[in-house]
Amino acid sequence: MSASLPHPLLHCYIDGQFVASDCYFDNINPVNGQKISEIAEANNRQIDMAVQSARQALKGPWGKLTVNQRCDLLHKIADRMVERQQEFIDAEIADTGKSLHQVQTIDIPRGAANFRAFADMARTHSGETFITETPSGEKALNYSVNKPLGVVAVISPWNLPLLLATWKVAPALACGNCVILKPSEETSSTAVLLAQVMDEVGVPKGVFNLILGRGKHIGDYLTSHASVDAVTFTGASATGQHIMRAVSQGVKPISFELGGKNSAIVFADADLDKAVAGVARSTFTNCGQVCLCTEKVFVHREIADDFIEKLKQQAAAIKIGYPKEEGVLLGPLVSKQHQEKVLAYYQLAKDEGANFIIGGGVPKFHDERDQGCYIEPTIISGLEDNNRVNQEEIFGPICHVSIFDDEDEVIERVNNTPYGLACALWTENVSRAHRVSPQIDVGLVWVNTWFLRDLRAPFGGVKLSGIGREGGKHSLNFYAEPVNICIKI
Ligand code: NAD
Repeated sequence: MSASLPHPLLHCYIDGQFVASDCYFDNINPVNGQKISEIAEANNRQIDMAVQSARQALKGPWGKLTVNQRCDLLHKIADRMVERQQEFIDAEIADTGKSLHQVQTIDIPRGAANFRAFADMARTHSGETFITETPSGEKALNYSVNKPLGVVAVISPWNLPLLLATWKVAPALACGNCVILKPSEETSSTAVLLAQVMDEVGVPKGVFNLILGRGKHIGDYLTSHASVDAVTFTGASATGQHIMRAVSQGVKPISFELGGKNSAIVFADADLDKAVAGVARSTFTNCGQVCLCTEKVFVHREIADDFIEKLKQQAAAIKIGYPKEEGVLLGPLVSKQHQEKVLAYYQLAKDEGANFIIGGGVPKFHDERDQGCYIEPTIISGLEDNNRVNQEEIFGPICHVSIFDDEDEVIERVNNTPYGLACALWTENVSRAHRVSPQIDVGLVWVNTWFLRDLRAPFGGVKLSGIGREGGKHSLNFYAEPVNICIKI
């Protein structure tokens, strides 16, 4: 086993205890294909215990805390995460092979920031009041109090493991719920560290439970559990469709953040160098494994040749290597299975007749990394908008570049997708930015930037990209529902 082990055996955390299991599966390092740890898969009895413990905790000391006491505890969680930051960084890199730069600047700091941000927002979140007057001259006071949903199942993906798990766990706890977190089977390590932090800072038992395991084995039992009150999920659209069927029996609240097939539009009036750097970043960050990443680029005919040449140069300059090596921006993809999926799309692009501007294969290192899950940053062109490669989410470091001639045309072509998550516009014309942005069928538009996030802003997608919005008051409105109280005066 590798020396960078976060822990050789990763266990579920249920009712305030780390518990062994009767079934373990291997955790593989995507850098070299070596086993780094074994992960306990929860069985149905353990899921029952976690759910019952969470339900019990709602009635215990946790349920009696004031909002400020709860939010103070969330700040303690954030403080302890910062104290143990290096362990979180090492664990995230071991599971994902992400570059140190990415983990140090985005994934881990955002984990702690999520707890602080939602704690501070929850302190001032208030209900509504109305004085009601009836035609017969009577009056009443209507006011609402925000009540937690109860036991919330949080199901999170592998691409930004700690960041996306805490994006849901933090507001759920801030609102007074108890949580069952089920992280991706590919990335359990930072979730185990988070459970340790919860334990260390004195989060009462049952408030935070961690269920590890493969989604296809244990997911249905959790999401259809009669004592789970709500399901909040980030992951693939197909999994979302499956979960929707599973929760339908219980008619539970759901929040879904799903897949994307995102475009960037580069207008002729764009600052070319900024646009090239921005599109390179939005395509290749985290090896293209961000739901918001660009997979389709539409560039105006007037600047297309220059743009494509410069984008190719940027892709060629990306350093691929060991995650902690100086200057490395791209590590491997998360797993062999995912590498095979992305390579199958590279092959499909060839079969569909794409022109490969750069990339299209697997880099050769002539060392242990050749057993890992590396892949080349890739730029293609020449396909129709309706080709599968331009319609399906690939989730790798690849974009297809097309040429457009006018604004209405490009809006229609960008909207020609079953997904609707994000879009980036590159233009120096402020009127155009305002005019085009609301016409794109997505939940998030960036202008002259990408992935610039304010945790108070609404986040989510339309069409196959999701249901509902999280972020700021949208998260607080999902994780606690108003009870209206009407008092006759
Ligand atoms: P995935 O759907 O395969 O897995 C996500 C989670 O669901 C994992 O924890 C998995 O174990 C679990 N799961 C799988 N089957 C389940 C079932 N039947 N019941 C319950 N849970 C089940 O997704 P992934 O491959 O981990 O993540 C990549 C996908 O997530 C991409 O499509 C990406 O676009 C999407 N994503 C979306 C957002 C967003 O905010 N919209 C953010 C990140 C990732």
